[in-house]
Amino acid sequence: MFDRAAAAIGLDPGLAAVMKHCRAVYQVRFPVRIRGQIQVFVGWRAVHSEHRLPTKGGIRYAPVVDQDEVEALAALMSYKCAVVDVPFGGSKGGLCLDPAQYTADELEAITRAFTRELARRQFISPSVNVPAPDVGTGPREMAWMADEYRRLFPSDINAMACVTGKPATQSGIRGRVEATGRGVQYGLREFFRHPEDVARAGLTGTLAGKRVVVQGMGNVGYHAAKFLSEEDGARVVCVIERNGAVFASDGINIEKLAEYRRETGGLKGFPGARFDPDGAAALEADCDILVPAALENQITAENAPRVRARLVAEAANGPVTFEADEILRSRGVVVVPDFYLNAGGVTVSYFEWIKNLSHIRFGRMERRIHELRADRTVAAIEAAVGQPLQPEMVAGLRAGADELDVIRSGLDDTMRRAYQEVREVWHACGRTPDLRTAAYVVAIRKIARSYQEMGV
Ligand code: NAD
Repeated sequence: MFDRAAAAIGLDPGLAAVMKHCRAVYQVRFPVRIRGQIQVFVGWRAVHSEHRLPTKGGIRYAPVVDQDEVEALAALMSYKCAVVDVPFGGSKGGLCLDPAQYTADELEAITRAFTRELARRQFISPSVNVPAPDVGTGPREMAWMADEYRRLFPSDINAMACVTGKPATQSGIRGRVEATGRGVQYGLREFFRHPEDVARAGLTGTLAGKRVVVQGMGNVGYHAAKFLSEEDGARVVCVIERNGAVFASDGINIEKLAEYRRETGGLKGFPGARFDPDGAAALEADCDILVPAALENQITAENAPRVRARLVAEAANGPVTFEADEILRSRGVVVVPDFYLNAGGVTVSYFEWIKNLSHIRFGRMERRIHELRADRTVAAIEAAVGQPLQPEMVAGLRAGADELDVIRSGLDDTMRRAYQEVREVWHACGRTPDLRTAAYVVAIRKIARSYQEMGV
């Protein structure tokens, strides 16, 4: 995919070689005593591009992580940050373990040991390399990592900025947990603001009423499905999980489904929905928008010819293989690429990092000034019209932006601008026939410019 875009803009082969591969990969093996036995864990942290520092990217805990995967995901992080103008290089980490096999105490011991290993060689640091959550990790793991790092470097006043995605009460930021799903929503909204683009997918109108299939009810899939259905009127007609899929042509209530899954451990038997244990086949279900939000390599050369969605919204990283991408393109299916669409997480991570470095919550200094100004405006209007304004009107004018409002505004703006930049390239030149290639072109140009200006 990278080569296709590099060829489209005639990128210098030397620069292409610099930008294609990871600069450094660190593999660790470390022992942790679990239930009286020593277990050795293996993990990686790959740094792809250091044209901006710190480098940034999630850490995943999964039984099938390997070095190739971590390197590929680190590269994707560089392109992702460039597309949405987040001033970070790309990195990614992984630990080979199945979190379901360990208690919370054991996971804490493993996470703290992994953090010590990463810190030893600056593969975690507020100024050089800042991890975040990914598959199998969340705010809890980030809090452990931040705390361990702070213990190692107690005099570093910015120690808490060593990871993002921390709980809001542990120097995190409100809106981070939902950020990637929220970004998927904002990205799709922007796509649907451009009728020309919507028409390329063979669709019309807005998100309202669109039939959506979502694969994965984890952090990203759950939030994307929830926001699209509750706020944009999209109809989630199918949700796919590990052990099967549920279908309901009238739309699935995502909150109720999530609650049902929490209680029963699965989707089977969810009231009002048909269950099919063949989750993979559900990727081919009749719908307008397919949102793969689980894992990579889900749409392959084998099933791509049968995908019926007109729009594939890549909420997960790498859900469509290179071969499948070609097939979908030849069939006129529009793919909104992962490294644009799921950039909401890293964007809000950037906001969290800034908050940590500035040691103050967004909006704290301005809230009362805003209220004061609103009071003066209200007084002036009331004096001019000679009667009091409605209390709701006054309340609306006085309401200042809190942290969540500021975060959402920044994320929305980021997703809109990035899409507009990408679509401009998509429509401007016949050599970038799809959104993915256009997004690569945007990212490659920015990274290349940085290397050219600063020296390789
Ligand atoms: P998660 O672990 O919270 O959720 C993944 C979900 O997918 C789980 O519910 C899991 O049961 C389900 N799943 C696994 N295999 C499946 C299968 N074969 N079929 C159907 N469902 C399956 O992970 P997440 O954080 O939601 O991440 C999902 C994807 O989004 C990953 O590709 C990740 O790299 C990417 N991503 C995540 C973030 C983030 O902020 N969390 C940011 C950018 C990209």
